[in-house]
Amino acid sequence: MSTEDQIIHKIKGEIGEDHLHDASNYRGECDDLYYPPDTESFARLLSALYAEGKKITIAGARTGLTGGCVPEGGALISTDRMNRIGPFDRERETVTCGPGVLLADLQEHLRQHGYFFPADPTETLCTIGGVVANNSSGARSYKYGSARGFVTAAEVVFAVGARLRLQRGDVIEQGGYFSFEADGKPFRLPAPMLKMPSTKNAAGYYFKPGCDLLDLLVGSEGTLCVFTEVTLKVLPLPERLLSCVAFFESVEGALGFVSKSRRHGVTETRSHGDTETRSLEAVRALEFFDGNSLGFLRDDFPKVPEGKAAAVWFEVEATNENFDEVVIEWAGRLEVVGVPLEEVWMPVDPAGVEEIRKFRHAVSWKVSEYIKQKGLRKLGTDTAVPIEAFDDYYRWAIAMVREAGIKYVAYGHFGDCHLHLNMLPKDNTEYVTGKGIYLELCRKAVELGGTVSAEHGIGKLKKEYLKLMYGEEGIGEMRKVKRYLDPKNLLNTGNLFD
Ligand SMILES: Cc1cc2nc3c(=O)[nH]c(=O)nc-3n(C[C@H](O)[C@H](O)[C@H](O)COP(=O)(O)OP(=O)(O)OC[C@H]3O[C@@H](n4cnc5c(N)ncnc54)[C@H](O)[C@@H]3O)c2cc1C
Repeated sequence: MSTEDQIIHKIKGEIGEDHLHDASNYRGECDDLYYPPDTESFARLLSALYAEGKKITIAGARTGLTGGCVPEGGALISTDRMNRIGPFDRERETVTCGPGVLLADLQEHLRQHGYFFPADPTETLCTIGGVVANNSSGARSYKYGSARGFVTAAEVVFAVGARLRLQRGDVIEQGGYFSFEADGKPFRLPAPMLKMPSTKNAAGYYFKPGCDLLDLLVGSEGTLCVFTEVTLKVLPLPERLLSCVAFFESVEGALGFVSKSRRHGVTETRSHGDTETRSLEAVRALEFFDGNSLGFLRDDFPKVPEGKAAAVWFEVEATNENFDEVVIEWAGRLEVVGVPLEEVWMPVDPAGVEEIRKFRHAVSWKVSEYIKQKGLRKLGTDTAVPIEAFDDYYRWAIAMVREAGIKYVAYGHFGDCHLHLNMLPKDNTEYVTGKGIYLELCRKAVELGGTVSAEHGIGKLKKEYLKLMYGEEGIGEMRKVKRYLDPKNLLNTGNLFD
């Protein structure tokens, strides 16, 4: 066996500090770190560790924001070496890749074929395994929905080491069970009887009557299986893209513009929620930044005008033929709401479009850096609420944080009614106050019929909020599934529930 085929193994003392935390700044520890090169060795390793009764944590690129990949003892398995891309199937418009492939690398590979993968967490240095395990989404999810809708097949390994190749449509829930064979053994997996919120959602297990087993496994945060290969549906790149940041004198002006633009931009391909109306237009991203976010970014982006209360970033897909028309149409819409066009960022070249993406990434990244410097944990909401309640929810949430005197930045995927309100506590006392507010913000989101996590997941840091959303009974439904696939409760233990 060549060294390339062998599992790399490091023990305590050899394991870099970087492996023991993620972007939430939650820290853990482990005895062993393994890097298997392929599915075969991954499955063997998993079943050996399982037989020993070792806790097992799976790590992708560790950009998660909820401590999901942070080990709390036992063994850590990294997917870093399982990073092969290909093949790209032009006829089916799919690409197959290993879980350790970085999203940025996959997008670059696809770009060369004239394609892209629609799910786009703001952080592109994450792995495809992480994206699928978390059902990640991002700005473009306004049009395309989350990763789940784009997973067409997968190879998974269950905690006990059994392997399963699964095509969408192979295993469907019937009468409360998913029936299938893995490694020649019959499985009759109970389905979690849960009612999903109508909003974008990444909290806990997924279930809809008659759903595909793939849909349950995607987003299960590594608690039900490990993805060792995935096949993803990809789409042709739009010919042209209008990307635009507009600055507003008032928050109300920006909220009003988002509201109007939603009506222009709802499209037919959303895979979350129940809104499936059609429109000829193709708004694919609709994002909001408050004045504090703009202030937070001004050092790095001096072009940000002074004194603005908010900004909205939107992307609209266009063709070579209709691009000018689309630009004129949107410039008109901005003028109508009183936005001076000379202050609008509306680049026509790909470099300018990319700079806007960097601007969006910078705000999330700077929040993580701030938290790290303070030695605290991230206190940023990931809540989404139904459309009719969203603007009031936003106003109420901001008022509460202001009243507590805690600094904050607020931004998010407002097209999807999804709020990232990040508190920036100056010390531990403010952090504790902020935690109390955070709980209230989650409670309210649930009360309104929304979710405590629309995209970052639950991991180890948001378990109490998942309970708030589904109650003991709902958590019991999830445990039932977990117990069937992982009777010793060893795989990614500590994520979602205890
Ligand atoms: C600046 C910044 C911006 C972000 N913006 C967004 C955003 O817009 N939208 C969004 O959804 N997220 C966002 N995130 C969160 C994060 O990038 C995503 O959740 C990402 O998909 C995690 O991928 P990863 O490879 O880093 O996973 P990790 O952090 O390594 O792991 C995340 C979870 O997935 C599990 N896991 C990883 N690989 C596998 C596998 N192969 N099989 C089973 N389980 C596995 C881990 O055990 C863990 O529970 C952001 C993060 C940062 C730092």
